[in-house]
Amino acid sequence: MMGRTRACLRNLVQSLRVGSSSSYKIGGYYASQAASSLQAEYKPLTRSPGEDEYADVDWDNLGFGLMPADYMYTMRSTKDGVFEGGQLSRYGNIDLSPSAGVLNYGQGLYEGTKAYRTEDGRLLLFRPDQNAIRMKMGADRLCMSCPTVEQFVDAVKQIALANKRWTPPPGKGTLYIRPLLMGSGPILGLAPAPEYTFLIYASPVGNYFKEGLKPLNLYVEDEYHRSTCGGAGGVKAITNYAPVLQPMSRAKSRGFSDVLYLDSVNKKNLEEVSSCNIFIVKGNVISTPAAVGTILQGVTRKSILEIASDQGYQVNERTIPVEELVDADEVFCTGTAVTVASVCSITYQGKRIEYKVSDQSVSRELCSTLMGIQTGLIEDKKGWIIEI
Ligand SMILES: *Cc1c(COP(=O)(O)O)cnc(C)c1O
Repeated sequence: MMGRTRACLRNLVQSLRVGSSSSYKIGGYYASQAASSLQAEYKPLTRSPGEDEYADVDWDNLGFGLMPADYMYTMRSTKDGVFEGGQLSRYGNIDLSPSAGVLNYGQGLYEGTKAYRTEDGRLLLFRPDQNAIRMKMGADRLCMSCPTVEQFVDAVKQIALANKRWTPPPGKGTLYIRPLLMGSGPILGLAPAPEYTFLIYASPVGNYFKEGLKPLNLYVEDEYHRSTCGGAGGVKAITNYAPVLQPMSRAKSRGFSDVLYLDSVNKKNLEEVSSCNIFIVKGNVISTPAAVGTILQGVTRKSILEIASDQGYQVNERTIPVEELVDADEVFCTGTAVTVASVCSITYQGKRIEYKVSDQSVSRELCSTLMGIQTGLIEDKKGWIIEI
């Protein structure tokens, strides 16, 4: 696998030395005619991608905005659903048919994972196979062809290695890696697209806990729902996210950090936040809503359940009525972007419930263990870490 990754990088360096452009065509890329006309505008690289050197970024002031790293990865399916010919190219716009399935019928999935730079300069990935498996589940739900787990993980490795310069120094942040799968083939009548494109890009993101933690103020939404029984809330379908923007903007305009959703049937059980999972702590018991199809099963959620159990907590995946928020000692959210974020208040039907947030909290303890494993400071005894 390592050999393959390096070989792909070598090919990339060669193709980039020939020429590339900021606009990138899916299909017919690297056409040799195009390369010569682009040569003038493209400055050849003087270093190889992945060479250990930092990009020109103010690492101390990283936010969460998009700062595209040099390279993206693209792989297309053949008509019979087999993915092949994946390659790295410079980050840039893609060429897409107006009748692509993703544009017309929302046939798309996304994933999110991170690369971590260790103190001694190694690059680590955290459970990317779990993202690959989740993408496969989503692809089945949306009738899409999907890369194999091995192809997915190999591509994530290539992206991390090629964009190593964009991976922040340890303690300053991480390289956020965003895989996408979309119906890129043209279709008019409602049906699965005839062709699929797997694409990955990356962006350095700041460390959430840079200046101490910023606890969240959540708003419990009882009008809108994120997910419904039998819907696609349990997979990372891109169509799950535009509908949360309205309640989210409304909550943000009222000073809240994000929205906590309830189930759409009883309108009384906790589900999750717009893009992260929720946990409540009461004594020695840590609970999170059971993943019954309406909740996205986060890799962070799964890992925290395991870490908490190892540390002697009783962990539960169950139905959690909203009333339980009143008695909880602590509430926290989990996700790749936030890692583990403490919640300091939750507002439900005009009542605000407040939680003590301290450095000794259960969520801080779980977070430091998880981050310790992710950044290589704590030995990984679970086979979660892939070193590139
Ligand atoms: C991605 C996501 C999460 C968190 O999943 P991780 O794998 O932990 O990043 C939780 N909820 C929703 C709705 C999500 O989209």
